[in-house]
Amino acid sequence: MKFRVQRIIDSSALQELLSAPDLLQAKREEHAMLVQIYASPQDRSQIATIAGAVQQNFPSACIIGASTVGEILEGETLTGSTLVLISLFENTRLQSQSIIVDPNDPKSQGMKLGHWVSQQPTAPKGMLLLATPLSMNVQSFLHGLGETSSGYPVFGGGAGDYAAMQEAWIYADNQFMTCAAVAVLFISDVLVIECRQVLGWQSIGQSLRVTQSSGMSVQGINHMRALDMYRRYIHAPEHEDFAMMAAEFPFLLERNGKLLARVPIGRDSDGALQFMADMQEGESFRLGYGDPHRMLEDVGGMQQDLQRLLPECLLLFVCGCRRYLLQEDSRLETITFAHLGHASGFYTYGEFYSDAIGHPQLLNASFMAVAMREGPLPQIQPAWIASTAMPKHSNSTHWDPYAHQHSRVIASLVHFIGAVTCELEEANATLHRLSITDHLTGLFNRVHVEAMIERTLASMRRKHESSSLLMLDVDYFKKVNDQFGHETGDHVLKTIATLMQQQVRSSDTVARWGGEEFMIILPHTEVSGALCLAEKIRSRIESTAMGRAGSCTVSIGLTAFRPEDSRTDVVERADSALYQAKNSGRNRVIAHAQ
Ligand code: GH3
Ligand code: MG
Ligand code: MG
Repeated sequence: MKFRVQRIIDSSALQELLSAPDLLQAKREEHAMLVQIYASPQDRSQIATIAGAVQQNFPSACIIGASTVGEILEGETLTGSTLVLISLFENTRLQSQSIIVDPNDPKSQGMKLGHWVSQQPTAPKGMLLLATPLSMNVQSFLHGLGETSSGYPVFGGGAGDYAAMQEAWIYADNQFMTCAAVAVLFISDVLVIECRQVLGWQSIGQSLRVTQSSGMSVQGINHMRALDMYRRYIHAPEHEDFAMMAAEFPFLLERNGKLLARVPIGRDSDGALQFMADMQEGESFRLGYGDPHRMLEDVGGMQQDLQRLLPECLLLFVCGCRRYLLQEDSRLETITFAHLGHASGFYTYGEFYSDAIGHPQLLNASFMAVAMREGPLPQIQPAWIASTAMPKHSNSTHWDPYAHQHSRVIASLVHFIGAVTCELEEANATLHRLSITDHLTGLFNRVHVEAMIERTLASMRRKHESSSLLMLDVDYFKKVNDQFGHETGDHVLKTIATLMQQQVRSSDTVARWGGEEFMIILPHTEVSGALCLAEKIRSRIESTAMGRAGSCTVSIGLTAFRPEDSRTDVVERADSALYQAKNSGRNRVIAHAQ
């Protein structure tokens, strides 16, 4: 396979490209030709001219294109340019399909594409996919695709529009489309395609929770308006372009053990944040910020990994927000690949990715590289593969210690915020634990058990399950204190706490209600079961020696939670059953008469 990339500045550059001997030879030998055109959005007429000329010269070429937020030419980051990437395959067939997507039903269009793939006589080695995330839910489209066909890598990116957030397009079948997808299948016995992606962003600040969301819109974070919560952390003047600001601080969340980024692309007048991919209600996330060192390190690792393949063609799909964050330094990421397979591609609004095993997903904020090679690796590999020394691709002739200094400052600040957040979270967790714990017995305290009673009531109203409440009071405890002193009294309370904890299930809540009174909440437990447990606890306490105090007994009152109960209702019933147990001779268990 051959891969040729060219920036088209004028018609002579185009002519030079189209008359290249290897292209003419490929045409004679009827090799498959894939032409990818990546350009800034305003270049439509230039794209049409280029595509027309390519088609005239190479009628069987598969021509696709997309508008971008920056272009990548042999590892160099460009802006406002037009790139033509031509791949020539000796032993690979290409099949392409473009689909106009109904924005109300992207999933079924994805399924349609999947059906088309599964109808191919031969399974593909991979799929290059371009789409328009500004106008459609690409995530649902990819779900649909994954549902009907999988087992091959999917790679590509979302068309961009230089942060105008208005209109991006893809090009296929001689037309520009603003709500569509185009797929190219690579069918071959010999083609090897390896896709890799890295994120390299760092979580900063405390963990937050999506409390209200629908589809790709988030209305609530930590029970506040999403925009207000976002602005609390990300200060930006009102007039500042929201999309630009937000691109720097994506939401980072973990799904199936994998860190994903979601970049807010806009907000509405009700204070909801809009995304290009879903954020689910109940999902926790942190804000993310790019640590340039970490990003470069991750990209470097990926490069090392892919160079083993000696790619003949390397495509890069890089999220536009990395360019916004790293600014001039974004070149440091792409240039890492300069000597590998003419590394070229574009800056995207979202990356489409799956390896051969997974279902295709929409990524944000990531750096994706796709290495291709037709045919086996050469027997003798270049020396630089064996040694880890990489060819240098730097424009500067000498080392400048002052260069990229702001990256280092940012890296230190991100680290600093991470360390401070970690300390605060640990301190918060300790404070929270202390605030709900009884210091004498180590059981939960009254504050917590009251909250748990409310929670149990809410849950039983939702799920219609039975739960019970036990109230326990030590008999004649005053005498223990009077005869043996307070310390012995304390010892008795601690021993009783331990005995109770030993008898209950992990889902039960044992708490000190106050003084020598305890409370146990038994979820999913009927009165009969609660009676049984209460009796076990009572007899266990009666038969346990309590140091100098000898033996002690307890009285227990219990009741079932009722859906119409308030917190005080259920506590009063348990208390009244306990009162009966005391009045009828102590050292016994009484259930409230229902
Ligand atoms: P009854 O069988 O009717 O429950 O008799 P009682 O003596 O247990 O009842 P009362 O409520 O009169 O006495 C409770 C005693 O518990 C009074 C109080 O001094 C003691 N007490 C409350 N909290 C603590 C504590 O933290 N440590 C100790 N040692 N005693 C406590
Ligand atoms: Mg008492
Ligand atoms: Mg008592």
